[in-house]
Amino acid sequence: MAATTAKRSKFVVVGGGIAGVTCAEQLASQFPSDEVVLLTAAPLIKAVTNFRQVSKTLEDFDVEEQPSSVLEEKYPNVKVIQSAVKELQAKEHKLQTESGEEFHYEKLCLCSGGRPKLFTWDNPHVLGIRDTDSAQEFQKRLSKAKRIVVVGNGGIALELVYEVEGCEVIWAVKDKAIGNTFFDAGAAQFLIPSLNADKPERALPCKRTRYTTEGAAPTCPPSTDRGACNQSPGLAGELGSALGPDWHEGIELRGAQEVSHRVHVEYQCEVQKVYTREEFTQSRQSPQPSSEPLTDTGLWPVYIQLTNGKIYGCDFIVSATGVTPNTEPFLHGNNFAVAEDSGLRVDDHMRTSEPDVYAAGDVCTACWEPSPLWQQMRLWTQARQMGWFAARCMAADVLDEPIELDFCFELFSHITKFFSYKVVLLGKFNAQGLGQDHELLVRCTKGQEYVKVVLREGRMMGAVLIGDTDLEETFENLILNQMDLSAYGEELLNPNIDIEDYFD
Ligand code: FAD
Repeated sequence: MAATTAKRSKFVVVGGGIAGVTCAEQLASQFPSDEVVLLTAAPLIKAVTNFRQVSKTLEDFDVEEQPSSVLEEKYPNVKVIQSAVKELQAKEHKLQTESGEEFHYEKLCLCSGGRPKLFTWDNPHVLGIRDTDSAQEFQKRLSKAKRIVVVGNGGIALELVYEVEGCEVIWAVKDKAIGNTFFDAGAAQFLIPSLNADKPERALPCKRTRYTTEGAAPTCPPSTDRGACNQSPGLAGELGSALGPDWHEGIELRGAQEVSHRVHVEYQCEVQKVYTREEFTQSRQSPQPSSEPLTDTGLWPVYIQLTNGKIYGCDFIVSATGVTPNTEPFLHGNNFAVAEDSGLRVDDHMRTSEPDVYAAGDVCTACWEPSPLWQQMRLWTQARQMGWFAARCMAADVLDEPIELDFCFELFSHITKFFSYKVVLLGKFNAQGLGQDHELLVRCTKGQEYVKVVLREGRMMGAVLIGDTDLEETFENLILNQMDLSAYGEELLNPNIDIEDYFD
C-alpha cells in the first residue's frame, strides 16, 4: 500500500505492552499539550493498575488488558494506532506502518517486546506461549491432552508445570535443578514436593478484567499468510503483548485425565529431535542403537527425543525457552548497536545508538555499568520501570535538563508467586557474577519457607525469600546499606530472633 501524507508528532512510542503504555502515559502527563502517538500491533493494550510500592524498591501491581480507547480517554493527548511498524528510517526520523501510514517523530521510544524463542518454527505440534491468544490456544489443546512435554526452565515453564492439572507433564530442563533462572538447587528442592501434591484451592477468583482478541483480525505478521499462521500457534501470537504474572488465572489449565498433578522432570537435557507419528513409526522399523532408552512408544501425535536419549510420545510440546527481542523491523538500513542477546543496546538514559531513538522493556538490553546489586531480567516490573524512566529521559532531553539513573536500578527486586508460594528475589539473589567470592546462609522449613542470603565480605548482596517470611523490608535495607554483618554470623537467620527489631 502506498504511504499517505506523513503525520508529525513530538513523541512516538512503539508497542502497547507495559513498557510502551507506561512510557506513553508518562510522556502524556509531562507534555499535556503535545500529542503522543502510540503505535501497536495488537488490538489490546496492557495497563498497570493497583500499583503498590511494597518497600523502597519492591513493587506490586495488577495488569489489565484494555481496549486502547481506555488509554485515550484517560490521556486525551495520546493517540493509539493499531498497526505494526514495518520500517524505521532513523536518520529521517520516520516510521512506516503496515497499513501504509507514515509518522515523523522528534523522539521515538521502541517498546516492541520479545517473542518466544521456539526451538522449531514449522512444527504444528510445538507451541510457544506469549500472549492471550497463544495462551488460549494452549488451553484448547490441553483440554484434549493426556500428556504434554514442556521444554524450558524459566518462569513460564515453572508456572505452567505447576498450573496444569488433569494431564501428565514431562518437563525437560537443561539444568541440574528446576527454575534455574530464579533459584539455586536448594530452593528447587524446597519446591519440588509441590509438583506432585494436590494444588491448594484458589482463594479468590481472578478479579482482573480480561478481554480477548477473539473475532479480531489475526495478529500474524502480514507477510505470513493466514494458513501458515494457523499452522503454528507459536507464530500466531507473534506480535501480541507478553502475558504477565497472572496469565493463567481465569483460564482453566486442565487436561483430559482425572489427575491433579503428574509431573516428571528430565534433568540436564535438551531437544534432540521431534518426530511425527509417521516418522517415528518408520524410525522404529530400522535398527536402533542399543544404547537408546525408549521411554514410551504408545500412539501419540508427536514424539520428542531428548539429548539424554529418552523418547516421549505426547499430544503436543510447549517450547518455553525464553524470548528474543522484537527488533527486526527497526534494524534494516539503520545503525543500531545490538547486544549479544539480540536486544537493542541502551545507555543509562535509555538511548539506543541511533539519535533520538530510545528503547525500553524486553526489546532492549541495559548496557550501562550497572549497580553491583542490579541486573536486567526480562520481567514485568522492569518493563514498567524502563518505560517510565525512558519517558523521563526523553522529556529531560527535550527540556535540556539533566537526569540521573533512577533509584529503581540500584537494587534488583522482584516479587512473584511460584507454586502458590510468595517469592521475593533481591539483589544478587543467585550470587550472579560473584564467582566463588561469596557465602550462603540458608534457613528452610519444609512446606513453609525457604530463606537464602548471599553474603560477600560480611555484606548482604542478595536474598531469596520463599513463603511468608516477612523479611523483605529488613533484608532490602541490609542490602542497600551494605552494613557489615560479619559479627552476626548465622544468627542472622535464627528464627528465634526478631531480626526486624534487631536492626531497628
Ligand atoms: P510486550 O508486553 O511483549 O509488548 C510488546 C508490544 O509491542 C505489544 O503490544 C506488541 O503488539 C507490540 N509490537 C511488537 N512488534 C511491533 C511492531 N513491529 N509494531 C508495533 N507494535 C509492535 N514477568 C514477570 O515479571 N513475572 C511473571 O510471572 C511473568 N510471567 C510471564 C509469563 C508469560 C507466559 C510470558 C510470555 C511472560 C511473562 N513475564 C513475566 C514477562 C513479562 O510479561 C514481560 O517481561 C513484559 O511483558 C515485557 O513488556 P514489554 O512492554 O517490553 O513487551
